[in-house]
Amino acid sequence: MRAVVYRGINDLRLETVPVPRIGADELLVKVAVCGVCPTDIKKIHYGTVPPPRIFGHETAGTIVKIGGGKNGGASVPASRFRVGDRVALHHHVPCLKCHECRHASFAQCETYKRTGITAGFEPAGGGYAEYVRVMDFVLPGVVKIPARNSFEEGAMLEPVNTVLKAVKRLNLLRGDNVLVAGQGPIGLMFTKILQLRGVNVLATDLLESRLKLAKKFGAKWVGQASRLSLNEKKIKNEDRRDACPASLDAAIVAVPSDDAVAQALRLVRGGGQVLLFAHTKRASSFSLSARRTGGEGRGEVEAFNLDLSSICLDEKDLIGSYSSDFTLQAEVARLVFSRRLDVRPLITHRFPLEETSEAVHLASNPKPDSLKIVVAADVSPL
Ligand SMILES: [Zn+2]
Ligand SMILES: [Zn+2]
Repeated sequence: MRAVVYRGINDLRLETVPVPRIGADELLVKVAVCGVCPTDIKKIHYGTVPPPRIFGHETAGTIVKIGGGKNGGASVPASRFRVGDRVALHHHVPCLKCHECRHASFAQCETYKRTGITAGFEPAGGGYAEYVRVMDFVLPGVVKIPARNSFEEGAMLEPVNTVLKAVKRLNLLRGDNVLVAGQGPIGLMFTKILQLRGVNVLATDLLESRLKLAKKFGAKWVGQASRLSLNEKKIKNEDRRDACPASLDAAIVAVPSDDAVAQALRLVRGGGQVLLFAHTKRASSFSLSARRTGGEGRGEVEAFNLDLSSICLDEKDLIGSYSSDFTLQAEVARLVFSRRLDVRPLITHRFPLEETSEAVHLASNPKPDSLKIVVAADVSPL
């Protein structure tokens, strides 16, 4: 079969590899579509994991084979499925028994950290290939896609899950006011999910086109990220009815920008929360003191002070959220498949498997009209 193999930094190659063999209680799934996710892009750009690997973990497709059960027939989880089922996959599933799981820190569970879907080599998701093997321990994460919904909608369950998980980390009440910094596909999902919960969203982004979309996704107020700092005073002094309030109950930073974090910390009220969602690159430092010099010819970057008394005295929480929460899967499926959160307008570009490099390039260099990018394989029969 064809697969896009990661061979080193920024080196993705279309290769012919064997169709994965499945074992007892495993599934073989023909990939229909796979979302391009920033966490994979980071691995491709920075080489944070050794090659070779086949990435792609926002995968939906059709079951073409079910491994026999260890004692003959399919096991209980595998027997939920039939050949021909259209399914959305989940490459990480926690054990639900360990210490971390009992604290609901699923992303820190050792079982969760194992990747249970592969198209060959060290398991890495495998969605940029024609077929993937779904191992037994991630079967509980496989969700059937209703007939009226598309594979693309199925492929969005994983990112939506990560967003819903993060929202649940915030102590929000109806009528609260929340900043969502960054209105890419993830930021727009935040905006919509918060709006569905009766929260007023202030959405910011650098791109005017995304602010327009943010309105459509339910943002009450929108602001240019670059200008927001200048407007902070204005926001603070607004007393018109329906104006964005002086201080916010929470802020979600869905862009990997330290300045956005500093701004978020300034804008939330005492006792409010700032949630980091996009600071996934290790050693990205939160500058505690004066100035830092930016690399890559960016010159000196204006740094900010994190006044730790804002955490202690003002009781502002600085929290993070990473990856998905398996226990939310049913709620996420209802949200997406009912189209209360309609993910279809988020998918703007579709690339064939052989153009996965181009897909990754566009996803890492977004254009005004690009949001979620997916790779769709035109799969040859087995
Ligand atoms: Zn993802
Ligand atoms: Zn666990």
